[in-house]
Amino acid sequence: MLVVMRQDATEGHVESVCAAIKAMGFQPVPMPGAQRTAIGLIGNDGQVDGSHISGMDGVAQVLYVTKPYKQVSREWKQENTIVTIAPGVSFGGDTVPVVAGPCSVENEESILATARAVKAAGATALRGGAFKPRSSPYSFQGLGEAGLKLLALARQETGLAIVSEAMDEGQAELVAEYADCIQIGARNMQNYSLLKAVGKMRKPVLLKRGLSATIVEFLLSAEYLLAAGNTQVILCERGIRSYDSIVRNVFDVSAIPVVHQLSHLPIVADPSHGTGVRAHVPAMARAAVAAGADGILIEVHPTPDRAWSDGAQTLSTAQFDGLMPELRAIATAIGRTL
Ligand code: PEP
Ligand code: MN
Repeated sequence: MLVVMRQDATEGHVESVCAAIKAMGFQPVPMPGAQRTAIGLIGNDGQVDGSHISGMDGVAQVLYVTKPYKQVSREWKQENTIVTIAPGVSFGGDTVPVVAGPCSVENEESILATARAVKAAGATALRGGAFKPRSSPYSFQGLGEAGLKLLALARQETGLAIVSEAMDEGQAELVAEYADCIQIGARNMQNYSLLKAVGKMRKPVLLKRGLSATIVEFLLSAEYLLAAGNTQVILCERGIRSYDSIVRNVFDVSAIPVVHQLSHLPIVADPSHGTGVRAHVPAMARAAVAAGADGILIEVHPTPDRAWSDGAQTLSTAQFDGLMPELRAIATAIGRTL
């Protein structure tokens, strides 16, 4: 339920409505807006009866949020949420940041070379995994804290913002110390303990869609983060499993406009995991910008064929350099900048 206050409502009116919501056993969340204040009600997972509130002084309208997710819905908040992970790197506004980097952080030479190259091409954030969720326990698992230190070094040298993945609460605390944004990967989208823990942190989060998650499940996972108090959430479409093995995943470009309709949160696209095939990454990156993605995540490596993970879907720095002007032109065509 959402109580929209009149433009001339006083602070006293807002307080009285909050008290009435508390008396119903729920938590009021006042949201002052440019025009008027709205007060959300959380704590319920079904319909509540707010008829007595609609008659209170200062109340313009009582609206019911009909979706299973509340705080992430457009019904709850109409204007786009803008998530800023570092000065000048914001998702959800007119600019479309590009986040690039290797699947895994490997060594100082390689991460610095990648950082310099993607920065020169126009990326504003560097992404690299220090903790890797690998399908096989025998595959490279990431450098851990040493990898985070290398990312911090790359930030110091290039000024790029840093995004890196955490798979559990302890890793999230460590990633938060070194990075500007914590990635929750596809395999952990429904790790509710992790979502609750990261929800309590005050660090921007990049939440990837699960391998077989519906959009409603995806938004409910984001709801866990907001329900725990973290509103700095960037969603990420990274492709879903299907029956056709010719590509690694099926990149669901339709998720971008669908999420924009259902939620105020920004949604970025990861065409690298979205296809799993290097040759198809540029086309899907272009499609994602055209569809309105609020950012693009691309795996880039100086020598992709020698990358320690996900080489087959990784662009070379030269390929990335060639793609950026195309993405920029598409962004310009739809009134955005990249
Ligand atoms: C990654 O970002 O390298 C990764 C493991 O992605 P996902 O969680 O989307 O599979
Ligand atoms: Mn990867």
